[in-house]
Amino acid sequence: MLPEFAWGDVKVYVAGHHGLVGSAVVRALEAAGVGEVIGWRSAELDLTDRQATFDAIAEAKPDIVIDAAAKVGGIMANSTHPVEFLRDNVLIQTNIMDAAHATDINRLLFLGSSCIYPRHASQPIRESSLMTGPLEPTNQAYAMAKISGIFYIEAHRSQYGRHWISAMPTNLYGPGDNFNLETSHVLPAFIHRFHDAKKSGAASVTVWGTGTPRREFIHVDDLAQACLMLLKKYDSPETINVGLGDDIPIRELAETVASVVGYEGSIEWDTSKPDGMPRKLLDTSRINELGWKPEISLRDGLATTYEWYLANYA
Ligand code: GDP
Repeated sequence: MLPEFAWGDVKVYVAGHHGLVGSAVVRALEAAGVGEVIGWRSAELDLTDRQATFDAIAEAKPDIVIDAAAKVGGIMANSTHPVEFLRDNVLIQTNIMDAAHATDINRLLFLGSSCIYPRHASQPIRESSLMTGPLEPTNQAYAMAKISGIFYIEAHRSQYGRHWISAMPTNLYGPGDNFNLETSHVLPAFIHRFHDAKKSGAASVTVWGTGTPRREFIHVDDLAQACLMLLKKYDSPETINVGLGDDIPIRELAETVASVVGYEGSIEWDTSKPDGMPRKLLDTSRINELGWKPEISLRDGLATTYEWYLANYA
């Protein structure tokens, strides 16, 4: 049986609390009246350092761990740095989970990404598609690390009876995203590119690929609500998808971002750049049955993310 708890009575460690996902989770926990939330910046605690991670978690003794710490990046970063994406993610997640086990932490949520599913999985992608075919090569290293994390969660459940769970969100965006053009995902890259083009009065902006791949995008604040709900209600070895259930072609995303930013020039497609996975639409029936659905529309989420970008990045 999953032990019941009130947010006000628990201490939660959010690994990656300063990142896109972690900072949204901290906002949601605080709004829910969490007893205490803790986290360390990477300069304070290097999660690839096993001993330091064990010491920090043993000393803090949280009741719950949310693992939102990862080396993440867009299609270029991921495909050109497979060594770091595989190694750092395996080290981070294994150290956190081993330290949580050593400290006897019974509730842990591990977050991954929809890229764990096979390139040719049937759409929308059900959780049961995991490991049924080869991965998309451009994000294979990251996906391999996250898949081993899912299995490590399952292993702690079956071997030690831990109430640990994993959830796989679709493409995320929101305040605090990475807007660096070399390493970011597509949505923040579009905000950055179209904003620069509007400011400089450029007649055209060049973006990557053919624009035909389809992606779904959820706002991190919606994901954060899903995380809190799952920690209360979900207790199964199988990972659970967190998505919108609806996707758009990258070309349409480009037009929508251009319109939110107010860029009126043309959009050119550099087809020498990779498209990546043709489609990765998540089947979200399982999480919907638990009573969660996203609340923030793409248009509204883009508008507030652009405001954040203007205030903090531009
Ligand atoms: P993916 O979902 O793992 O493929 O990662 P991305 O978010 O980086 O890329 C999604 C899609 O957007 C791919 O088809 C990219 O080629 C396309 N794309 C178009 N322009 C850009 C850009 O400026 N940056 C990024 N990261 N992707 C872009």
